[in-house]
Amino acid sequence: MPEPASVDTEGKVELLGQAGVRLELGPTVVYFDPYLTEHVFEVEGVRDLRRQTPTPIEPGAVRDADFVLVSHIHMDHCDPTTLVPLAAASPSARIVCPNDCVPVLVAAGIPAERIIVAREGRMRLGEDLDLDLELEVVPAAHPEVVRDSEGHLAFVGYILNFAGRRYYHAGDTSPHQALIEAVRAGGPVDVAMLPVNERNFFRERRGIIGNMTIREAFHLAEEIEAQEVIPIHWDMFLPNLAYPEEIDLLYRRIRPNFRLRFMYPETTVSGSRNGVRGDA
Ligand SMILES: [Zn+2]
Repeated sequence: MPEPASVDTEGKVELLGQAGVRLELGPTVVYFDPYLTEHVFEVEGVRDLRRQTPTPIEPGAVRDADFVLVSHIHMDHCDPTTLVPLAAASPSARIVCPNDCVPVLVAAGIPAERIIVAREGRMRLGEDLDLDLELEVVPAAHPEVVRDSEGHLAFVGYILNFAGRRYYHAGDTSPHQALIEAVRAGGPVDVAMLPVNERNFFRERRGIIGNMTIREAFHLAEEIEAQEVIPIHWDMFLPNLAYPEEIDLLYRRIRPNFRLRFMYPETTVSGSRNGVRGDA
């Protein structure tokens, strides 16, 4: 018997560099933390903060975004010089972000009605579009869990629930019990995108707040029962790298209880293919 024509429930993941991810879930395209410019270098003026990973797509060529999920205000995650042209090129895209990012994006020219504040817990995404897509906003600890006076989280991770699968993008985070519990509350994770550029003294001395070590990310992945782990945030800035070889070595030696899906950032991504979706 021929296989029934099925909806592809396996999301298509493409890495954009740093924490940037393009995730295709059925008809919906979601971008996490797209950083597609030299904004950090332009602001800081320090040569070693140039991109090490080429821009896979110009922000103004991203025509397929339905949602852009921004994890926190740091400019390698909430980059107005990426988000403004991207929002113009994807006119129906909505941006989900922590509360303190809203004034930054509005001042940069993104209409407030296109911005959704990330509220801790579960929310339906695209209810008006009749999408089967649920978003969970969970805490991130960068390096601590921070809430403003109204209780809004400053650093978040996102879980997308689609077709019975859970996709977790951790944002920038150190391991933290609050996030482990929040993620575990929703059940096992199918795909976990976890930052592996460790915190260390020399990074912090120059103002770079790192994230989990590779070991911590692996341990966290096991605690949240991740089936598959995609390391992110290891490739962009010279003082803040992790190397593919160390990720691979630790995976082979530790033999953790998940599949490591090591991916290099793309050199081109699907986003510019106007109107064409779901092709390989
Ligand atoms: Zn970061």
